[in-house]
Amino acid sequence: MSFRLSERSLKRLAGVHPRLVALVREAAALSPVEFMVTEGLRTPERQAALVRAGASRTKRSRHLTGHAVDVAALVDGQVRWDWPLYPRIAAAFKAAAGRQGTAVVWGGDWSRLRDGPHFELDRKVFP
Ligand SMILES: [Zn+2]
Repeated sequence: MSFRLSERSLKRLAGVHPRLVALVREAAALSPVEFMVTEGLRTPERQAALVRAGASRTKRSRHLTGHAVDVAALVDGQVRWDWPLYPRIAAAFKAAAGRQGTAVVWGGDWSRLRDGPHFELDRKVFP
């Protein structure tokens, strides 16, 4: 399956690192599960608010520098947070990353605070 990223998704990629934007675009072409981009670049004010709310633990989020995006799975146009959808999206990101030679990290692979909707460029390669 392949789908077109919505206008909203494309707008949310503004300010995101071009290599990550390219990955999102190819992942959309490869993913068996449709997704939308929910967040890309984040302001320090928003990050501080998320930390206060307990939704984020770090002041050093990769979202602050345009090195991370969050996605939401869509099934019949509805946002779904069911965990099994996210490894399927992640597989598309990883396949795209392999083709583009871009080191990407999926939050769902973290051993602590797994974050299924989150993808970021690998800090080791993109500091
Ligand atoms: Zn994130």
